[in-house]
Amino acid sequence: HLPTAELQALDAAHHMHPFTHAAGLAQKGARVILRGEGCWLTDSEGHRILDGMAGLWCVNAGYGREELAQAAAAQMRELPFYNTFFQTTHVPAIALAAKLAELAPGNLNHVFFAGSGSEANDTNIRLVRQFWAAQGKPDKQVIISRRNAYHGSTMGGASLGGMAAMHAQGGLPIPGIVHVGQPHWWAEGGEMTPEAFGIARARELEAAIADLGEDRVAAFIAEPVQGAGGVIVPPASYWPEVQRICDAHDILLIADEVITGFGRTGNWFGSQTMGLRPDIMTIAKGLSSGYQPIGGSILSDRVAEVIGGIEFNHGYTYSGHPVAAAVALANLRILEDEDLPGRVGRITGPYLARAWAGLADHPLVGAAETCGLMGALQLTPDKAARARFAAPEGTAGLRARERCFANDLVMRHVGDRMIIAPPLVISEDEVDMLVARARTALDETLAGLRADGLMVAAV
Ligand code: PMP
Repeated sequence: HLPTAELQALDAAHHMHPFTHAAGLAQKGARVILRGEGCWLTDSEGHRILDGMAGLWCVNAGYGREELAQAAAAQMRELPFYNTFFQTTHVPAIALAAKLAELAPGNLNHVFFAGSGSEANDTNIRLVRQFWAAQGKPDKQVIISRRNAYHGSTMGGASLGGMAAMHAQGGLPIPGIVHVGQPHWWAEGGEMTPEAFGIARARELEAAIADLGEDRVAAFIAEPVQGAGGVIVPPASYWPEVQRICDAHDILLIADEVITGFGRTGNWFGSQTMGLRPDIMTIAKGLSSGYQPIGGSILSDRVAEVIGGIEFNHGYTYSGHPVAAAVALANLRILEDEDLPGRVGRITGPYLARAWAGLADHPLVGAAETCGLMGALQLTPDKAARARFAAPEGTAGLRARERCFANDLVMRHVGDRMIIAPPLVISEDEVDMLVARARTALDETLAGLRADGLMVAAV
């Protein structure tokens, strides 16, 4: 390949990166990633980087899985593509749908495939609205979501999402989407106990339903554990109350499992970890461990019966793409054979929880939380007061991310929260390494913030 500086110059000249605010960094030269093995990346300068984000919450089975390369090659030779629109189907899509029906909890037995998580959530918007319309309830159309949620980048996905910065561009959200608060106790819980706050946030959903009238509300969508919003682990009181509210008002519950699915929280699905009974699950990312772009919606018997009984005018060329489906199937076999969800639940999740909790003594860390192999560090200038930085939101997080990267560790920042989600194959030694590098990065960040006079709380 070309020398790094030339690759970076071409990248800056011609390659538009997603979320280009992040490209401010890229102008200094984005790191060119060449290959991966297990939890490790190698860049064009030969550095070995510990990937604390599994690509982008994707690579659950780890990098370098020869079985997946072989599954893709074999399927490309056999049948690289065929559609499933016009009374045709094919073996990989059949086998993957059947496997997902087996793995998904409860009566979630029917899979509508898409090419990504965003596409799957767009499907969900149309699907839940059609579900009620087909039953003579054409006014039951509003979908309730949560502020600061991320559900994709298409017009539908970004509308469901609750990111103010995304809504500020392009006329979002689309009509019929309403947002309620997220159960982020550290930032918003004030004097309440986490338990009381969890109930209060769930009741915001009930208040929104009462406001609109339950005959106008089609569904509530949420991640079991909010990921891109900053790994917000809800208080234990939150989900049982939300489930009760959805049941009481006959509101469909959509669990967006794009991040929490496929072992991340220590079960196959985050809904199991949090004790939910969703009517629909959104899946993507870990479904193929990111080796192929594929997503989908898994529907309950009740939802599928209605949708299957009408003309549902919706589908993507690549719904159930044979190569993607074959790779996803091979990936699920790896997760199952190596019992990666169980390993997260019993071994690596608890190990990370202990090691991560050790970072809570750092002067910059207000809270250190985990759920399975997801983790967050809340950065604060004053932990006793649960204070936010007076410096522009995200300054401390951005600095910490840069210090992690300089120490060959990938972590992300969401505002002043640092987050991780490493591949599920991570070993205990690698967890120790990750935590040690994170601590070094925190020390360096703290020194920098102090030197620049930024360890100051907002009033
Ligand atoms: N839902 C959630 C919870 C996500 O985290 C993401 C992606 N980060 C999406 C949906 C969108 O998925 P995709 O990027 O594959 O469209």
